[in-house]
Amino acid sequence: MDNLIIKNSILEKIKTYENIIIVRHVKPDGDCMGSSLGLREILRASFPEKSIYSVGGKKADYLEFIGSEDEEPSEEVYKRSLLIAVDTATFGRIDNNHATLCPEIIKIDHHLPMDDYGHINYVREDLPATCAIIVDLYNTFRKELVMTQRAAKALFVGMVTDTGRFRYSGVDANFMRLVAILLEYDLNIEEIYANLYIREKEILKLQGYVLKNFKTTNNGVAYFNMSKRVCRKHRVSSSDASALVNMLDSIKEHLIWIFFIEHEDGTFRVRIRSRYVAINELAERYSGGGHKQASGALVRNKREMKKMLQEADLLLLEFKKGNPGVF
Ligand code: AMP
Repeated sequence: MDNLIIKNSILEKIKTYENIIIVRHVKPDGDCMGSSLGLREILRASFPEKSIYSVGGKKADYLEFIGSEDEEPSEEVYKRSLLIAVDTATFGRIDNNHATLCPEIIKIDHHLPMDDYGHINYVREDLPATCAIIVDLYNTFRKELVMTQRAAKALFVGMVTDTGRFRYSGVDANFMRLVAILLEYDLNIEEIYANLYIREKEILKLQGYVLKNFKTTNNGVAYFNMSKRVCRKHRVSSSDASALVNMLDSIKEHLIWIFFIEHEDGTFRVRIRSRYVAINELAERYSGGGHKQASGALVRNKREMKKMLQEADLLLLEFKKGNPGVF
């Protein structure tokens, strides 16, 4: 369906509900928190008579500076609410246990479309952040929707973080025009970047350890096993440690890089990143998914980790054969 038709149907649906609950995915990042809180602020300012909630489970402390989510509404409220799920490719990844109670769901996302779980599914693979989809929605209905500085700050953070500070593919003139809309709201850029990128000294020491100890496969997959022991030794939480995946992003001839982060139960969260090579299907084979060049998955033990690395290595070998001269 045409994007404008979908956008119209989203706005119409929003208008028909008195209660709207916005949810996002588990393990929140800047884009899902930014799109949830940004959309909430726009809707609150645009429709002050409505009750708009942004809710989720475990939060990310480092993103508190863009705002806080709301208390869980009662089940009765869910039953009368429109649910808007942002930045969440599959229904199972929604960080909320009551989503099925809502009579209707709108999905707003930019991941590869794996699961059309919404009554309206608005998926924009051409935009590199869900926050950009929200800004575009605002821009389309400027006469009816109200942007605020709080909304602009949250949305800007999502657009900065999901593009690695405007470095990844998908950053184009249209995307930057959407960023420019937010910059009209007098954002304190220095404060935003300080909140996102100033780090504890323990993290910096762990960065040094990662750079010294990462491993590589024969054909150029760089990887690091962020074990419980390494996290303990450096006094860094596994979620903070997992954020270091892109330490391995600029190694010559290494077009795929992977972090394995050990969970308490000995299984591993996998964060896979790549340049040029599509790794999402590899992730899907290991209970995961995501984007062509940024996906997540799960491996149950070291044997599965080894198998996944072999598959990644083969994938890269095939890619290099078909694309000689690419770094
Ligand atoms: P992460 O490494 O957790 O930042 O994930 C990279 C991308 O893959 C994000 O867009 C996630 O939403 C997505 N992703 C991560 N884990 C999974 C999973 N288990 N299933 C589907 N998508 C995932």
